[in-house]
Amino acid sequence: GSVTGCRRLCGSVLRDLLQPAQGVLFDCDGVLWEGERALPGAPELVQLLHRHGKAALFVSNNSRRSLSELQQRFSRLGFGGVRSEHLFSSALCSALFLRQRLAAQPGAKVYVIGGPGLRTELRDAGLQLVGDPAEEGSGEAETEPESSVRAVLVGYDEEFNFHKLSQACLYLRDPECLLVATDRDPWHLMSGGRRTPGTGSLAAAVETATSRKATVVGKPSVYMFEYVVGRFGIDPSRTLMVGDRLEMDIQFGKNCGLTTILTLTGVSQLADVQANMESDIPAERDLVPDYYVDSIADLIPGLED
Ligand code: PLP
Ligand code: CA
Repeated sequence: GSVTGCRRLCGSVLRDLLQPAQGVLFDCDGVLWEGERALPGAPELVQLLHRHGKAALFVSNNSRRSLSELQQRFSRLGFGGVRSEHLFSSALCSALFLRQRLAAQPGAKVYVIGGPGLRTELRDAGLQLVGDPAEEGSGEAETEPESSVRAVLVGYDEEFNFHKLSQACLYLRDPECLLVATDRDPWHLMSGGRRTPGTGSLAAAVETATSRKATVVGKPSVYMFEYVVGRFGIDPSRTLMVGDRLEMDIQFGKNCGLTTILTLTGVSQLADVQANMESDIPAERDLVPDYYVDSIADLIPGLED
């Protein structure tokens, strides 16, 4: 590795890091897979962690899938032994967050900008959504009285439009109505180097139109980690975070006290690490991973005999 302050993880340093580790938190897209293709070595690494009795947990900012859809994706791409309780998506965590926040307000409804997977996850958490029929067989839902809408959740929505933005504005005129975003991912890579807009761009539209600031549940927010710790009781000082995006995954790891590893199979590259190290902005200068690997296949030798 040529970058000082962020070393290529290999050899004895790798073994000394992985062997005493309790577990690894993985970002998904750009780390485990790329579109419909598992990255080489990813399923093998997860299997090896299981065999060594280590936790392999998954933290994704993708809010388009329900938990069961995400679990099916793991199976389909060859990740055996990954159960739904190992998965922490921004859809699931937003549902848990809103359930907690709205617990003391019976009848509270959530206005959702997002797709069917996100809506399923919210309903499964027992939340009532604007636009859902109040009772079976009631046909078209009535327009919601504004006062019953206690939160607006902004997630990934391929059918985002001016009408949805206006509705969000209407509810958010009430300062007690929460504004929550699943994540602030600005865009995503597609095949051929093309980019597609992420939820961050939709959250920014709502924030601009309302002069409000959203509470983010996904990475780099520590809320997501609180749900992980709540379920698995992991010790941050013995846990690694592997991700492909500096401002989401590596920032998340740092916010949570984890050892951070950047993998170069996704968005951020070594030039971005270098630029952060040379930045005049202290927050950027601090956003340097502890280690990097070309791909997570490079972690496998750390657990082999
Ligand atoms: N949000 C959406 C809508 C996505 O499509 C993706 C990746 O495909 C992500 C977020 C990023 O997911 P991850 O945090 O697993 O990289
Ligand atoms: Ca990613």
